[in-house]
Amino acid sequence: MAADVPLPSTIVVTFAAIFGAIIGSFLNVCILRWGAEPKQSVVHPRSRCSNCARSLPWYENIPVFSWLLLRGRCRGCKTPISVLYPLIDAATALIWGYMASRHGVGLEAVRGAIFLTILLGIAITDARAYIIPDEFSLGGLVIGLLFALAAGWPALGTALLGAGIGFAFLWIVAAVGGRVFKQDAMGGGDIKMMAMIGAFVGWQGMLLTVFLGAFLGSVVFVPLALTGRKQLVPFGIFLSLGALVTYLMGHRVIGWYTAYLTGA
Ligand SMILES: [Zn+2]
Repeated sequence: MAADVPLPSTIVVTFAAIFGAIIGSFLNVCILRWGAEPKQSVVHPRSRCSNCARSLPWYENIPVFSWLLLRGRCRGCKTPISVLYPLIDAATALIWGYMASRHGVGLEAVRGAIFLTILLGIAITDARAYIIPDEFSLGGLVIGLLFALAAGWPALGTALLGAGIGFAFLWIVAAVGGRVFKQDAMGGGDIKMMAMIGAFVGWQGMLLTVFLGAFLGSVVFVPLALTGRKQLVPFGIFLSLGALVTYLMGHRVIGWYTAYLTGA
């Protein structure tokens, strides 16, 4: 987007990455508590060891570094702490740093960073708990529409159209899939998630996301299904990956395809 924004300095990118690591730390809490049954508040109680319930002082709560200093174990009960936590901190830092370096300081960098952070949250929550929390999907939908509103009425129209078509398209796929396969091919979480994605990347991007997600999902799960085992498919992971590719290079793919169709 805004090509006239000057490329940011290393300092700006570094700050964006540090901010991203802090967001990633919070994302870990969201993944853990929104994915829990029953759902828990992300504000209360404070971060604590999931084994011994010892509250973590601030210096044990620093993204990535605390895990390294503690060598991946709780200081109280010595229970191993999953390496997923620092990895998610680091991945979110990468997202925010990269968005700053790609878009410069401005709305698109923040919009992209929030979008990719939500996708990461959905992918991990769906993989761990087979749940796509409304906080990510519907919360993300509202955020996507607000960013579009900030960009003006045409952008808002595009986002609303993307969200509406995303919702309707997946709803139909779910209804038809349920009839054909006699089981729920897709959950309501996937449908709300596609409305959110449509708000961020428009209806063409939404379709590309579904195509990529279905392709990636089949590559992984068709061999599993052939072994005859019943396997719950966390489709949100593949939709997240599809949306990531769409956000990063969807314009080019859609451009090629349109050129191909029109013979240009
Ligand atoms: Zn502990």
